[in-house]
Parts: sequence; structure tokens; C-alpha cells
Amino acid sequence: MPKISYVDGAYYHYENSKININDRGYHFGDAVYEVVMFNENIFFDFDGHIERLFKSLSSIDITLDFSVNSLKILIKNLIKMNKASYGTVYLQVSRGIAPRNHSYKNLKLKPVLIISITEKRNDLYNKMKGVNAITLPDNRWGRPDIKTTQLLPNILAKTKAEQNNAFESIFLDENEFITEGSSSNIWILNYQNELITRGLDGKILSGITRSTIAKFAFKNKIKFVERKFSKNELYNAKEVFLTSASSFVTQIIKIDDYLINNGLVGDISNNLRETYIKTNEKL
Ligand code: PMP
Repeated sequence: MPKISYVDGAYYHYENSKININDRGYHFGDAVYEVVMFNENIFFDFDGHIERLFKSLSSIDITLDFSVNSLKILIKNLIKMNKASYGTVYLQVSRGIAPRNHSYKNLKLKPVLIISITEKRNDLYNKMKGVNAITLPDNRWGRPDIKTTQLLPNILAKTKAEQNNAFESIFLDENEFITEGSSSNIWILNYQNELITRGLDGKILSGITRSTIAKFAFKNKIKFVERKFSKNELYNAKEVFLTSASSFVTQIIKIDDYLINNGLVGDISNNLRETYIKTNEKL
């Protein structure tokens, strides 16, 4: 198990990896984060995740004085120190440390960067197994396009999924169109062989895996359509899958009481998963 993390300028053993009680991430969820999967020195979509981290920071007015390269060095060091060969890298940046007060207008803070490693054994090279999902109303705040640590609705939804023997909860907007999963983007393949996922209309996170899969679909001449789709289209799809950094492409074979593709894993999802795993980046 990894034992060392990076906290605000130094490396610590886990038992000494502590956050100040006045960290604004702790008080307010005034923080953003990223998760990157790695496997034997291969990092999945590393540049995309780091680019989104800086985008999230800028959308909530935080300036982090680190270059992409210095973040790479920190991550490499941490992985080496932990002798980790597979897992996830978690990066979190909060606005900084200050006595509790909502507004940050007059605060000159140094953002707090933490990086930790989780040894998550991914089943990368195993054949894809289908998972179950449930649907729920999307009750998150109005800016789910920013990857902040305020994840209370998401964790409640994920827990509800698990309580119902499902892997993921799929959020529905007020008109019962799918937004996304509690920690994933959702896709359908319909019987006209259109691969559909919701567009970046501010109601979903711009998933890094989503954008890589969209590029593959385009290259492989799969008809890719970005648009809203309804709960009915979801239930009646030929294939349904989710994408995320930690689940890659994972097929959903049952949603609420409806079996998708008779509960079988479909070819397009399988191919996209395999292509994703083959195409990766070295740090
Ligand atoms: N939507 C939400 C709400 C998420 O938490 C995630 C996982 N980070 C995603 C979508 C998928 O994004 P990515 O492919 O970048 O992991």
C-alpha cells in the first residue's frame, strides 16, 4: 500500500499527511481535483487531466504556481517513493488557508496542493464485465462542468446505487434527459448505430475519457452524435456504457428494471474499451 503523499510543499508518511482545519477545501469544498490512472509507467490521458485541472482552477479564480512539468516531476517522485506500479494519482488544489469566511475577495492565499497515490488494481486487461445502473434526479449545483470537491450529491447517488446492487447512478435533468453518471459520462448506441452522448452544455463534466473516446469514434467512422437523450432512449438502447478515468469504458447491461442488449456486453463498447487501453501515454 502507498505510504507517502505530497502535502503543500513536502512529502509525508500518511499518518503525518495533515490538512490545516482552516483549509478552505475542508470548510467549503473550495477546491478542485483530478484523478489519473497509471499502470507500469503508462499514464492514461495525463495531459488532458492536467489541462482540465488548470481550467477548473481558472474557473474559480485560483492561480497555482506550478508548471505542468513540475507537477509531472512531483508525481513521478511520489510514485517512485511509494514503489507503486499501478493505481491512481489524486491531485487536489484548495484556495488556501484562512479563518472561516465565505468571501475570498480580500484574501491573498497560497493554494494548497496535495497529491496522493492509491494502489487500485484495475482490471484493464480482463474482458469487460457489464454493470448495473439506476436513474435518479440530478440534484447537483448549477456548475457540474467544474471539477470541484463538492461532491455530496454524487456520493449520495453512488451510495444509493450500491445499496441497489448497482455500480453507478445516472442523473436525469428536469425533463428526464440524461445528464451524466455520479462519477462518469454516459453513452448510448442506438439501433441506427448512432453513438450518442450529451453535449458540453454546462450540465456535465467535460470528461477526459469522453473526449478521447469521441476521437476514436470519429477515426473509426462510427456515427458520433452529441445531443441530449431521454430516459426512454436509454432503456431502449442497443448498448449503453460509461466512461471515466478509473473505469475507462464500462458497459451497462441493466438500468433500473430494464435489461440492455439482453444483458450482454456489446461489440462497439468492447472495441472502444480495447482501443482506449491500447492508446495511452508515457509520462
Ligand atoms: N462526470 C463526473 C461527475 C465525474 O466525476 C467523472 C469522473 N471524474 C466523469 C464525468 C468522467 O470524467 P473523466 O473521464 O475525466 O474521468
